[in-house]
Amino acid sequence: MEQVRSARPRAGIVGGGIGGLTAAIALGKAGWAVTVYERAPEFTEVGAAVVLFPNALAALDEIGVGDQVRAVSLRYSSGAIRNLRGRTLVSRRSGDLAGGRDLAIVHRAELIDVLARAIPCECLRTGTRVTGVGVGGEIVTDAGVDCYDLVVAADGVHSVVRQQIWPGEGTVERTGVSAWRWIVDAPPLGFVGQVWGIAGEFGILPSAGDRTYAFAGARRGIGSLEYFADWPEPVAQLVANADPARIIEDELLEIRTPKSLTRGKVALIGDAAHAMRPHLGLGAALAIEDGVTLAAYADDLRGYSKARRRRVHAVQWISRRMSTVVMPANRPLAVARDVAVRMSPDALALSIYGVIKRWRPQPIACPPHEAASRFSP
Ligand SMILES: Cc1cc2nc3c(=O)[nH]c(=O)nc-3n(C[C@H](O)[C@H](O)[C@H](O)COP(=O)(O)OP(=O)(O)OC[C@H]3O[C@@H](n4cnc5c(N)ncnc54)[C@H](O)[C@@H]3O)c2cc1C
Repeated sequence: MEQVRSARPRAGIVGGGIGGLTAAIALGKAGWAVTVYERAPEFTEVGAAVVLFPNALAALDEIGVGDQVRAVSLRYSSGAIRNLRGRTLVSRRSGDLAGGRDLAIVHRAELIDVLARAIPCECLRTGTRVTGVGVGGEIVTDAGVDCYDLVVAADGVHSVVRQQIWPGEGTVERTGVSAWRWIVDAPPLGFVGQVWGIAGEFGILPSAGDRTYAFAGARRGIGSLEYFADWPEPVAQLVANADPARIIEDELLEIRTPKSLTRGKVALIGDAAHAMRPHLGLGAALAIEDGVTLAAYADDLRGYSKARRRRVHAVQWISRRMSTVVMPANRPLAVARDVAVRMSPDALALSIYGVIKRWRPQPIACPPHEAASRFSP
């Protein structure tokens, strides 16, 4: 006699970035049948590297992929924070403050690869753009309408889902801040860490595979990497040798996070919910936290929104304030920043990083009869 399968709840996930793929794995663990819609023809990330704090690694452990991510990461970087005159601003090593050995730097494409491999191919629909959604769980593509018990909006800062379901909320705000990031196929030359200057910041981190992750940001009106050409070495050399074809340049965008992250059967996660300035390096980490938390609250969407709102607002708020610290508008403000940071003996950095790294995921309940057949429809 043919066995009757219990009907699993179904989740449709719009967007296969870091947030969407994490949510897919987490919901699979919670016993949901998932389908990920990704408009790009394949799962990949053009962005350079990403720093993962202990909170992100704990969330990845909860869904069983932490060790695979660690295997393609460089663990820990004990960098310094200096000003333009080479003076150390934060006396303790920034890597120690941020998480010590539980800090990882990973190439984005490699992170996406680990996440996508943890999901069966039949759950992934690449080359499929979502054109509409409904609060009743409908997802519209060129191929027709599919209905779900849960729709996860993980479609990034310009989220189509957010625009449709939260009209008038979550508007995209331009910061005027330019950002550049690129990978160099050689280890860092001496200095590792960040230089906080006037109207700009520059970061140099080692990346797995003997590579260097270089990143820079500058205030409105500074539209070229040339701004850093006379910064202290090794910044000037990195800028001079940068291959334009490998540089990713963006204007930083933020959104005003909607009051509730859920409406009907739809939940917002990642940049679609709370795109923020990257000065704390936490956007992807929060997208990972969202995906894992959503799976723990998938039967109680209001609980998900409640669990996430305060945290994402706090991190967004700190990230915005950090802009004025890492790239003050003029020299007098930079001098005041240097004095203030040097006089607050690591306490400020410790408390900021404390907020970040203390977070731990809510365990995801895995229905016992589902465990053997995760993901199957
Ligand atoms: C300069 C810079 C440096 C950063 N550094 C860090 C860092 O060190 N650490 C960190 O944690 N974060 C960092 N971030 C933030 C981080 O990159 C983002 O927060 C993170 O990538 C968001 O992931 P996401 O999955 O929510 O969205 P996205 O990465 O934007 O993914 C959205 C996905 O949805 C797909 N999509 C969009 N619309 C549709 C549609 N209609 N139909 C189907 N698919 C669709 C897209 O193709 C994409 O694959 C940085 C950001 C910047 C700009």
